[in-house]
Amino acid sequence: MTAWLECPDVCDVDHVDEAVRSVEDVIHRSGEAGLTVASFVGNRVTHQLDVYVEVDPLATNPLLRAAHLVVDDEGNEYGYLTPEMGEAWADEIISFASEVRQKCRTARQYNQTVAGDPDPDMDEALRRVRGGAA
Ligand SMILES: [Zn+2]
Repeated sequence: MTAWLECPDVCDVDHVDEAVRSVEDVIHRSGEAGLTVASFVGNRVTHQLDVYVEVDPLATNPLLRAAHLVVDDEGNEYGYLTPEMGEAWADEIISFASEVRQKCRTARQYNQTVAGDPDPDMDEALRRVRGGAA
């Protein structure tokens, strides 16, 4: 059976394509903002974090009925954030990004200090890292 269903503007889901058992199961969802971590060891994506807007029109929790953010790390649990919580979290992400940049500088400085130093006692792990074989 097909039912007429009006989607809010935030929704990017094609509910006709998406098979759901009943109208109560319909959740409106935006497209995702994604963040991945590609590791040079194993040459693959090791972490993925997606964020999208969701509206669950028939949820008992009013915060779920309202538009909210869902954070999906592909684990067993989702993080549900009100727009206000999402904004506070976004500020944390900006601080986190600054810290990540600082770690990059620290690592680069270390590598530049060590590069060209023909220390025969350099441990094997470091030798492998510098050779790109780690
Ligand atoms: Zn929808």
